[in-house]
Amino acid sequence: MLKQINGLHHVTSLARDARENNAFFTNVLGLRRVKKTVNFDAPDVYHLYYGDEAGSPGTVMTYFPFPNAGRGRAGVGEVGRTSFSIPTGSAQAWQDRLATFDVKGITTDTRFGQARVLFNGPDGDAFALVESDDERTPWTGGGVSEAMAIRGFHSADMRLRDGAISTELLQFMGYEKVDSTDNITRFIIPGGNDANTLDLEITPDAPRAEQGAGSVHHIAFAVENRARQLEVREALLDTGYHVTPVIDRDYFYAIYFRTPGGVLFEVATNEPGFDRDEDTAHLGQALKLPSQHEHLRARLEGLLEPLGD
Ligand code: ZN
Repeated sequence: MLKQINGLHHVTSLARDARENNAFFTNVLGLRRVKKTVNFDAPDVYHLYYGDEAGSPGTVMTYFPFPNAGRGRAGVGEVGRTSFSIPTGSAQAWQDRLATFDVKGITTDTRFGQARVLFNGPDGDAFALVESDDERTPWTGGGVSEAMAIRGFHSADMRLRDGAISTELLQFMGYEKVDSTDNITRFIIPGGNDANTLDLEITPDAPRAEQGAGSVHHIAFAVENRARQLEVREALLDTGYHVTPVIDRDYFYAIYFRTPGGVLFEVATNEPGFDRDEDTAHLGQALKLPSQHEHLRARLEGLLEPLGD
């Protein structure tokens, strides 16, 4: 069993409209945009990152807004919901806040004893805010008070037809089963970061998910540094997973592999972080381009929709 993985690093999803996406995460949810860059493989598309002040691993929601993307269809073989952590007692305040912004799909429930506010993002993305005791210092954008501000990720839900192989994989990665209901099993990495929870939701009869705007593209797990990442890569290869070589993503190093259930996993390093090319006070303000796309700057600046901030 691996000991190098700490919990979630980031979650990356697809969207349609960059401006709407930016407004939702910064004004409604109160996160900080910590990086404005472009997709490495499609530089005419933004890659937007939202998180806490520094974009700490375990807080960072990222988006590729493809202007002409069709909407995704929820189903099995994907991360079906992304959950953020909020202070105990703040669910009602969030319910009220989301309603004032006319956010869709607001409902509440309790899972494993924790109150949740469920809601949809601009493209139907499934989110939850989960009450938990979480000591992380929040970013308080959009007029969100510190008493209710999002602390970072709480968890992600993987929705699958059959959980057996994914359970094995998660346990190999260091997750332990801590609770379960009829069709949901909760896993936690003991001693991990504050985003160390994953829920497996088994729905044998559901259709396969179709990826599009509002879908999670992949989830990334955090490791401290490149040495730990190489250890994880070797171990996954030994277990028979097809893992990509290490890819430099400017703000972290990434490896990817697809789980048997169809979900794309990444393992990302905590180093070097989002302040490697702009200081913490100004994170997310300037358009940052990967060096191989820097020569396209004039064209991209004319092409990319202004975010309106
Ligand atoms: Zn990623």
